[in-house]
Formats: sequence, C-alpha cells, structure tokens
Amino acid sequence: MSHLISVQESLERILTAFSPVETEAVPLREAYGRVLSRPVTAPFDFPPFTNSSMDGFAVIAADTLPASTDKPVWLRTVADIPAGSHFDGSIRPGEAARIMTGAPLPEGADAVVPVESTHIGARFDGSAMPEKVGILQPVSPGDNVRPRGQDVRAGAPVLSAGTALRPQDIGMLASLGFTSVEVHRLPRITVFSTGDELVQPGEDLTPGKIYDSNSYVLRGLTRQSGCQVIDLGLAKDDPDQVRALFEEAVRQQADLILSSAGVSVGAYDYVRQVIESEGKLSLWRVNMRPGKPLTFGRYQNVPFLGLAGNPVSAFVGYQVFVLPVLQKLRGLPALQRRSVKAVTGEPIRTDGRESYLRARVTVEGGIYRAVLSGHQGSGNLFSLIQANALLIVPSGVKSLPIGAELVAWLLDE
Ligand code: AMP
Ligand code: MG
Repeated sequence: MSHLISVQESLERILTAFSPVETEAVPLREAYGRVLSRPVTAPFDFPPFTNSSMDGFAVIAADTLPASTDKPVWLRTVADIPAGSHFDGSIRPGEAARIMTGAPLPEGADAVVPVESTHIGARFDGSAMPEKVGILQPVSPGDNVRPRGQDVRAGAPVLSAGTALRPQDIGMLASLGFTSVEVHRLPRITVFSTGDELVQPGEDLTPGKIYDSNSYVLRGLTRQSGCQVIDLGLAKDDPDQVRALFEEAVRQQADLILSSAGVSVGAYDYVRQVIESEGKLSLWRVNMRPGKPLTFGRYQNVPFLGLAGNPVSAFVGYQVFVLPVLQKLRGLPALQRRSVKAVTGEPIRTDGRESYLRARVTVEGGIYRAVLSGHQGSGNLFSLIQANALLIVPSGVKSLPIGAELVAWLLDE
C-alpha cells in the first residue's frame, strides 16, 4: 500500500483497458468534431473541371504574344461564360471568350487575361460583352487557369482515419460531394459525485456542507473533449445510493464511469466496497501531486475511474488520466498535449513527487515565462481559475531556481 506507482505506468495500465467505440454513419451536417473511422479518398478530381481563377478573357496564349499597352492585340469575343455556365464551342485563333472566376475554360483556350490587362481596364461593371477585346499584356499558357484535379486527384487520400473533423475538413468533404461520413459514435461518459458533505447549488448550505463542484468541472471537461456526458448527480456516503448510481451507469451503457472522491481509506468511503462486490478495483497511490489516490476498475463490464476528491486534484486527474482515455475512446491517435517549454519566474519547491502546478504562462519575445497563480492547496479552485497552464515538475526534483525550464501544459483553448 505504501508503494507509489508512476504517472506513466498508471496511465499505460489504464489505456490498455480501452479501445475506440464503434462507428456509425452521420450526415455531413452533424459531423463536426466527430472522428473519422476510415480514411477518405477523393471520388473525383477537384476542381472537377479546368476553370478560370480570374474575371477576364479566355484566350489562346500565343495570340497575345505581341500585346502591349501601346499596341493592343484585338480579339473577337465569341462567348460569354459566367460562373455556373458552360460554352460548348471552341476558341479559335483570333478569338476570345469573356469568362468569370470559376467558370469552365472553353475548349481551345489555354490562358485567361485578367480584365485589368485589357482595354476595359477596371473590373467588369455588369455591362454587355464588347464585340472585341484589346489585350494589353501577353499571357503564357496556363496563366490564371486552375487545371482540373489541381487540388486533389480522383482516388487520392484526403483525410485519414482518426481525424477529428474541423470545419475546413467538412468543407472539403462537401466539395467532394459526400452527404455522410463514417465516424466513431460519441463515447458516453457518466459523471457523479459522492460525499455526505455535498449539496447542489440552490440548496441550503447547512453547517458542514459544501457545494458539489467536481461534477460541474468533470462534466464540462468531458463535454469539451467531444464526448457525451450523462449526469448521474450525487450520492451520499451510503452503499445503496452508490450502488444505484453504478447500476444506472450500466443501464445507460456508459463507456466510462467517471467519479471523484470517496475512494480513500476513509471509514465512510463506500465506492470501493460497491465496486468490489460487482467487479474489480485497483486502488493506486500515484507518485504525483495533487491527485495521489486514483481508483481504476470495472463495475460489471463498465470501466470506472475514480479521481481524488479535492477539486484541483480532480481537475489534474482528469487532465492526466481521463483526457487520454477519452481521446482513445473517440478513435483519436495518442494525445498530443498542447504544451510549451517555459522558464520559471520564481523559485519552485515541491516534495519530490511529480507536480502539476497551477501557473500563468505568458510569452514575451518568443520566450514563455511561468509564474504560479496562487496558493497550490489542492482544494483551491481560485488559483486554478487564474491559471492558464499546468507547470510540470518532474518527480525527484525538489527545488528549482528562477529561470529553470519546465514543460507547461496549456489549458485554454
Ligand atoms: P474524499 O476523497 O471524499 O476524502 O474528499 C476529499 C476532499 O474533497 C474533501 O474535502 C471533500 O469535501 C472534497 N470533495 C469531494 N467531492 C467533492 C465535490 N464533488 N465537490 C467539491 N469538493 C469535493
Ligand atoms: Mg468523501
């Protein structure tokens, strides 16, 4: 019981117990943030046809070779091609077609002269197409033309499995005509709190009671990470109430039961007892601060993670252990933390455990500088809300001077 397990080892043990949740097809409109379960390849060339990248005149480049401002080359206009239309004919030597950005380049033409380089000068103003156009500057073949397949070729890989779809990814899929995509379903995470001292905001704070804040924090974080949250509320330190919550989590087909507190060796901690009656449980003392007590197990077949009860411990426990699990459940590759190397703006002392300190990181002249954001007591949410980073002091390091370099996990989006 006195053995401390490393953060790394606990995380590895936890992660092996999880695999990505099943997949489903979702309409493209609902695909934001969902994680692709298979790679996507382009069903056709994009752009699907060669088109103009400018408003101007489609020409045969060779015709424009002698053009200059003093001696324009005059071409006969034979077609008007607004975006969305198409010219069936062909451009022959001495001819041009008025063309708008995005319109298909007509057969025969191999370049576009921007309107600014013609006798018309300014941009098109809605006037009728002239019979002739004076070209003031030569163009080369391919100028101002976007060839079919310039962006992606039919069959080319576009998005890989494990991509959390961003708006621009969905835009790409839309431009390739997809109406739905195959993604992982949303993992279902049940969250509850336990403790006789806890009441809900809105209820009377009678002597000895505090408001439950952990489940608010954990629900928010879980949602932020792209999972479905199922709020199971509060249980007293009472085996029947605790058991009822676990049963509800099973009924809700949770992929993870997430909780905080109530798993120490305190006489009133029933979580352990309830889980052990229906599954298995490991109680670890992790070599970290805050968040040393960590419970991991299964109630029936549903994995359970019990974080330390102090509010900052629960928050740090989420960042260290839960977030990587949720990413894995969602079908994402191993978590890449958003982190920077920061130099400390003050001396730092710890007890030698791997420490996650609340800090404010600012950047000046390309250098990140970290200062602690207040009292580091594990119950103190105020110093957490003033922090924008967790500054990580490796285990075994007890004191650091000003200017030491540490990894800082950035907390804010
Ligand atoms: P425990 O793990 O039950 O011994 O709780 C450790 C500390 O965290 C105690 O001070 C609890 O009052 C506090 N605590 C436990 N759960 C919550 C919660 N849901 N919200 C706020 N504080 C809590
Ligand atoms: Mg308690």
